[in-house]
Amino acid sequence: ETLDKGLEKTKDNFFSKLGRAVVGKSTVDEEVLDEVENVLVSSDVGVETTVKIIKRIEERVARDKYMGTDELDRILREEIAALLSDNNTTDVTGAPDRDDFALPTDKKPYVIMVVGVNGVGKTTTIGKLAAQFHKRGKKVVLGAGDTFRAAAVDQLKLWGDRVGVPVISHGMNTDPSAVAYDAVKKATETGADVVIIDTAGRLHTKVNLMNELAKIKRVMQKFTPDAPHEVLLVLDGSTGQNAFIQATEFTKVTEVTALAITKLDGTAKGGVVIGISDQFKIPVKYIGVGEKIDDLQTFNKMEFVDSFFK
Ligand code: GDP
Repeated sequence: ETLDKGLEKTKDNFFSKLGRAVVGKSTVDEEVLDEVENVLVSSDVGVETTVKIIKRIEERVARDKYMGTDELDRILREEIAALLSDNNTTDVTGAPDRDDFALPTDKKPYVIMVVGVNGVGKTTTIGKLAAQFHKRGKKVVLGAGDTFRAAAVDQLKLWGDRVGVPVISHGMNTDPSAVAYDAVKKATETGADVVIIDTAGRLHTKVNLMNELAKIKRVMQKFTPDAPHEVLLVLDGSTGQNAFIQATEFTKVTEVTALAITKLDGTAKGGVVIGISDQFKIPVKYIGVGEKIDDLQTFNKMEFVDSFFK
């Protein structure tokens, strides 16, 4: 329901364009396929992934000799779901009683390092995640590792107060790895279930960033040898090709294990989720669909595809 609402713009955009692509046509021919290609590209699915999808449909048309335009929705949905399946293996069941925000029980504290450029919704995502874990009775510690922006530290503290979880912070311009160290230390000593570390997203100084993230990892490992258990890259879904570029750059500076794609409520181009997931082979774990504390969802590919086509 919230997902449908969050994706409203994308859905309207995609569906009405798709409708126009097939109007007055009964078969999926070259002309229709060209139009579908345009629809996908203009929804920010990305050229590479679009080409892949079109090729799969062409193959099906060639094999079955005929495809009616009334079937196109179903076929597109299947092909997109298949692409997403390749990288999002955790959520196939869609069982209603499944707890999407459950933490692995064998890793305590579970350490999440959050990366991404400024303005993408990193702090907000951390706050929303903290709220979800806290709501489930989990003990949460936050680390204000973006020591380069006073606003980032203040924002995180606000979220900490709001959710009711401690935030470890040091002075401005101090070493972010010292914050990470203290946060993981506190989490370990107090038996916390999860620690979420914010980091500075200064992508323009790539070598510095690479060293900084490596150092953060190193110091955490003094307490938790296999930390971080998750490196979560936050991308702004409304920035289209910029999100692709950021994913390219960040996967070069650190090993990214999961994606959070934000601001999908504010864009008609939610197709970015499909393209990024396909091209980077990294699971989309969370999606942001609003500014409020509950506007973070775990990514379920079937729900996502369904609300795209509803
Ligand atoms: P940071 O610089 O990456 O830490 O970004 P912030 O967390 O401060 O977020 C930047 C702005 O984006 C804030 O105004 C947030 O409220 C807003 N924001 C974050 N996530 C979402 C989302 O999913 N949807 C919408 N509409 N706004 C969001």
